[in-house]
Amino acid sequence: MSEAETILIVEDEERIREAVAMALEGEGFSVCQAGSAAHAAVQAAAARPDLVILDLGLPDRDGVDFIRDYRAWSSVPILILSARTGEGSKVDALDAGADDYLTKPFGVAELLARVRALLRRRSPERLASVPTIHFGDYAIDCVNRTVTRSGVPLHLTQIEYRLLAFLAANPGRVLTHRHLLTRVWGGQAAENHQYLRVYVGHLRQKIEDNPAQPRHIITEIGVGYRFEP
Ligand code: CA
Repeated sequence: MSEAETILIVEDEERIREAVAMALEGEGFSVCQAGSAAHAAVQAAAARPDLVILDLGLPDRDGVDFIRDYRAWSSVPILILSARTGEGSKVDALDAGADDYLTKPFGVAELLARVRALLRRRSPERLASVPTIHFGDYAIDCVNRTVTRSGVPLHLTQIEYRLLAFLAANPGRVLTHRHLLTRVWGGQAAENHQYLRVYVGHLRQKIEDNPAQPRHIITEIGVGYRFEP
């Protein structure tokens, strides 16, 4: 290993965060830490970790929401730490793009094994590798979750933002209704094609010069949508 791989640990319980950090550093990994989703977004952009270990119960936002936003611009593996007993939150997190999970309490050996497995499986970065996405006159700031057109802020709802960021991070790819619904709304919405139609309509009104003849958000009839930058 020429350069140490960097792992971001997102966990608000300092005792657990420190223990995980120590175990990883002991294995030769470089570690950065965050105690909130907001700090995690900044760290993810600044440190460009090779893997993220994420607690789902964070003080400022749900960890699943962090995953959805992070997945708009990064395909770095995410290992979830979950204290929750319900399967639902884990499934939501996996549907949102997490790769694996450990339920608390967990052993250090198990954690290290999962980390190594995820780093081995890691696919080449195929999503946008920069936290700012540009298309036309638009710039999407994936850290602050804002969109500007020629420098002028565009007002988008949280869902509109997430949908646009995910589309724009996957230019030229056909994204299925289910894929978009799962990534933007969560697994429970996977069949609600009407949501998607409505929000695509809103987004076209806001970003297309002629919403009736869109040039960025293209309909793939019966399949989904394709984003053209
Ligand atoms: Ca927590």
